[in-house]
Amino acid sequence: MKCDKCKKNEAKIKLDNTENLCLDCYNKVVSELIGIKDIEDYSKDIYIYDNNGKLRQFSIYHMFFGDKVSWFAKEVNGSYEFSIMEDAYSDQTKAINKLCLKTIKGVTNKTLRESNEGYYIDNALHRGNKQYSLNDYGVIQISDDENGRACFIIDGVEVSQEEFASLLTQFAGFNLEYKIKDITEDIDVFEDKYNYLTDEEKTNYWNKFERILNRFVDNDFISYKLIKFFDEEFWEYTELLKELIQYGNIEFAIDLGQKIKAKLLSIDTDDDSFPEYEIDVINDILKL
Ligand SMILES: [Zn+2]
Repeated sequence: MKCDKCKKNEAKIKLDNTENLCLDCYNKVVSELIGIKDIEDYSKDIYIYDNNGKLRQFSIYHMFFGDKVSWFAKEVNGSYEFSIMEDAYSDQTKAINKLCLKTIKGVTNKTLRESNEGYYIDNALHRGNKQYSLNDYGVIQISDDENGRACFIIDGVEVSQEEFASLLTQFAGFNLEYKIKDITEDIDVFEDKYNYLTDEEKTNYWNKFERILNRFVDNDFISYKLIKFFDEEFWEYTELLKELIQYGNIEFAIDLGQKIKAKLLSIDTDDDSFPEYEIDVINDILKL
């Protein structure tokens, strides 16, 4: 069904049981009702690399609910979904940043752990030729599949009821303590982990940086033409550094920061401000 107002987009929302509107027209109507201008000028797509170096695309959209605005990041060709809610009268660029950060954190903090055991684990989650177990803590979204049957989304992977139950049996004899949260609320279950990073997790932080760098650096040289694109991903990466500081693993954050700075300095370039600008960013975060 087409939208009653623009007659162009697909109608998705029914207003007052009379008008069928697309999301754009709905937002326009509601924002006018509360006397503010709809937000139109923002990037509708973001791309984020997860811990495994996989590039994930998210489509960004918003929706007014009375005097609140919900912001959504929905994975394109995937099942990840993140959301935050803001006051409609507040600065929405902050809301978009908050959503981006939540999305970055969401795809980099994993609830599933790939099993390295060389044998088949019966009650693991099997995808392709890999098998996964649940971490001790994490986030599980309750959703429904394309047939309308309840399912779970874990790390962007759709998991059936049977598979989820089977995963839980790996913890037979333990208790599961849980907390139901609205999708727009903050996720804080991972905060504790920063104090107790394993060596593998620490290595992952470094590997992630190297992966970003290697995409732009050729023979230890980075062209001025690529700096802008490198900086975009580097900015995302430094959010992880900020988190390390925020949640108390300062020692590791400083170690990592020094290692990154040394690496950046070892790269040749024809750019005027590289890597001084990037190093300033790190120093600023580490308060050096
Ligand atoms: Zn419309």
